Amino acid sequence: MRLVMLFVGAVVVLLMAGCGGSEEGPQPFKVGVASVKITPEKEGLYLGGWGENRRYTKIHDDIYARAIVFERGDTKVAWVALDLVGLMEPDVEDIRARVKDLPPANIVIACSHVHSAPDTIGLWGPDEATCGVDPEYLEFVKARTADAIKQALQATHVARVRLAQAKAPARCAINHQDAATIDSTISILQAVNPADEPVATVVNWACHPECLDKHNLEITSDYVHWLRQVVEADTGAPCIFFNGALGGMVSPDIEEHTFAEAERVGTTVGQVVVEALKEAEGPLRPDLAFRSEKVTVPVANETLRQAAKVGLIAAYRGQAMKEVQADIAVMWLGPSVWMTMPGEPLPAVGLEAKDLVTADYEFLVSLANSELGYILPKAFWEREQYKYEMSMSIGPDTADLCLSVLRSLLNGAPEWATAKKSAGTAASKEKPGTEKKPVAEAEAPAVSAPENPVTSVGAVPAGKQAAPLPQPEPTTPATPGANTEPVSGE
Ligand SMILES: [Zn+2]
Repeated sequence: MRLVMLFVGAVVVLLMAGCGGSEEGPQPFKVGVASVKITPEKEGLYLGGWGENRRYTKIHDDIYARAIVFERGDTKVAWVALDLVGLMEPDVEDIRARVKDLPPANIVIACSHVHSAPDTIGLWGPDEATCGVDPEYLEFVKARTADAIKQALQATHVARVRLAQAKAPARCAINHQDAATIDSTISILQAVNPADEPVATVVNWACHPECLDKHNLEITSDYVHWLRQVVEADTGAPCIFFNGALGGMVSPDIEEHTFAEAERVGTTVGQVVVEALKEAEGPLRPDLAFRSEKVTVPVANETLRQAAKVGLIAAYRGQAMKEVQADIAVMWLGPSVWMTMPGEPLPAVGLEAKDLVTADYEFLVSLANSELGYILPKAFWEREQYKYEMSMSIGPDTADLCLSVLRSLLNGAPEWATAKKSAGTAASKEKPGTEKKPVAEAEAPAVSAPENPVTSVGAVPAGKQAAPLPQPEPTTPATPGANTEPVSGE
């Protein structure tokens, strides 16, 4: 039945394409895609994430800058996904300045936060006092990323989109700090050409790419490699991955830190994406709108300011770093809304951001346009349980400042998106794989994290498991291990 419908849909699109494109009207929707390797060609670089002094010894799989451009009418936006631990705002601006055909603010550059790619921030050099960034490699990344954007801009063609969402199954990701609060939604956009053939698939899901740990010395994009591979094998088109609310501490739910586990997690999520696409909405010719605004965040973290001053954070070398800036963006694309965060929002923050909109499909892209570390709810600040996250956060106001910029941007929603919003109902969100089930039924992790206190929040929608804020103070102390050694590498 569905095959017949798909076939009929393809015929209709082909017929429309056969009309010479006049039905596109004055504002055709276009998509351009490009993928450029950023695998280091230079040896001996330090890997970013986990601890110091991890020089890579070999390449397991290539890492990439992957760009997708959306265009309709006067609106043109480029989204770039980098297989890197993070990139600070001055480096993002440097890349943007190299692309002349697009306003800088219309370029969103986000990192997957993989912990097995060269250090592009500086915190993971040979020792605690030495910057880990290789300037030559950073320049190579900037040039290649700008190339990816330019190539995608030149490759734009008339396209349609399909949208889908699903829920990551058990044993893929776990929030070690609070197992009940996690955004397990996988948001999916597929661009297709007028012949209904896939051009690109964008996947947005929240989980630290750290199946490989500090013992790994091989360059890899971690589970993202297999996720993309599975989607690409099925669709024949490039897959672009953006991370979500992965902060403190959404990690892969794995038995051990091995490539086999990275393959298991990536393959599992990739197969869910492939299945979800079979039920996707579309193809649609979506309306498109984009807004962005700078957020300025005071740096309350004295240790990070010192690190910048002594040259450990390459982008702010020698600077007092009293405050940092980054763009926050919102894109309306048909029935989907895309939001960015300039760091690693905790699930509670990411879910709060998604609660600001009522769209059929919600994308939250983290580590976008900067890496301001963990973005914690202010209510979590000074809690012993979040001691490590606080040490890797700019300050207690980051979440509120970012959310307030998002609110302001969302207030400027285009009329067509607002109309959609008022028409949107909870029922319209209930897509395959996102049925509203009690947490215990839907998200019981196969491997629990007994060392961490778990706060039950009762029955909330699966895939949108928001814990009410503020939460009660944990009654049990954090694990002693968490105070001495981070659960994650960053
Ligand atoms: Zn992290």
